[in-house]
Amino acid sequence: MTRLLIKNGRVMDPASGFDRTADIAIEDGQIAGIGENLETAGAEVFDALGLIVAPGFIDMHVHLREPGFEHAETIETGAKAAAAGGFTSICCMPNTQPVNDNATVTNYIIAKARSCAVVNVFPIGAITKGSAGEELAAIGSMKAAGVVAISDDGRPVMNARVMRLAMETAGVFDLPVIDHCEDLHLSAGGDMHEGLESVRLGLRGIPSCSEDVMVARDILLAELTGARYHVAHLSAKNSVAMVAFAKARGLPVTCEVTPHHFALADADTKPYDSNYKMKPPLRSRCDVQAVVDGLVSGHIDALATDHAPHAGSDKMQEFEKCPFGIIGLETAVGLALEHLVHAGKVPLMRLIALFTTGPADVLKLNRGRLAVGLPGDVTIFDPDAAWTYDVNRSFSKSKNSPFDGKQFRGGPAATVVGGAIAWRRGEGSD
Ligand SMILES: [Zn+2]
Repeated sequence: MTRLLIKNGRVMDPASGFDRTADIAIEDGQIAGIGENLETAGAEVFDALGLIVAPGFIDMHVHLREPGFEHAETIETGAKAAAAGGFTSICCMPNTQPVNDNATVTNYIIAKARSCAVVNVFPIGAITKGSAGEELAAIGSMKAAGVVAISDDGRPVMNARVMRLAMETAGVFDLPVIDHCEDLHLSAGGDMHEGLESVRLGLRGIPSCSEDVMVARDILLAELTGARYHVAHLSAKNSVAMVAFAKARGLPVTCEVTPHHFALADADTKPYDSNYKMKPPLRSRCDVQAVVDGLVSGHIDALATDHAPHAGSDKMQEFEKCPFGIIGLETAVGLALEHLVHAGKVPLMRLIALFTTGPADVLKLNRGRLAVGLPGDVTIFDPDAAWTYDVNRSFSKSKNSPFDGKQFRGGPAATVVGGAIAWRRGEGSD
């Protein structure tokens, strides 16, 4: 029997409201006790004095690039980066090659993750075959194989009739539908947020309304079908308002935001640096404020990185030619602490909820809380420790981050997955 005893930490569990110094005992992968002065004979002891001990963080939006693009990331390297970022569970988007649109690919990812991933990996299946937006994917058999949601992320489902069918089908299988909200006709040709900054830099713009119109359409379809609907990487202020409207009507609508969408605005874009190119693009200060307000009010349910590795050769091109997306697993907790907690906007308990109960509730994962009998997934972090992010020491195979060299106050200290220490500070990125 493997035993781990995490001692002397400040245990914070949003699900129960528990917030005091305590020990956590994990035996054979499951939480066996939470309390004061626990003793477990023969246990490995982790001294968490001065640290926060929280339920394992969940990142519900990650691109692992395997199968098909292993030069950019693999399930193994992405999982290591996740552990170094404080995440015990990640959900991988289906835009691999082949696309995860059937149970064979789902089974491959699950088997690969079992053999080489240091964190839990939950696949997300495609909505449509090849994520081409036309014919529904094999949703029922993917659910049976283990997908926790469906999404064509990287692309929207442009055809509203197909989206309606997808929502009706997802409802039958009790899966949430996650949409990458972007009207491709409105965003076509754009490289950054459409506004004064895009004019100043002479780059073509992606207007906020390209996101807003899809969020609006999807909310109406969610009302029609009763489906559980989730907006991926929400970035625009009208989209925040529409999700709030949907929640006020009692619809099962949820959303996530990424750390870069509250940490950076379009005006922060370094000219011609492709590490500032992502979809949705960095928005205006006004949008950033609306996103932060949504995190404070509770209209935003989860933080998710949209970790999008691209190999150096792909990102080292002219701004207009390089692909969209940045890596984010190892900087998410540091950015959230700095911009939300230390900035005095979001209490620490709420921040933990955004990384735990928030995504767990969207996906109906039996994780994200601390209770006897649940999986022994624990994130231990230091809210104040100073550290510097060196992207060249990242566990990710790709280095496309705008935060290289950034000094952080606060970040993960250790990541415990199923009672085993998957990472602790001092290994790799620190
Ligand atoms: Zn996306």
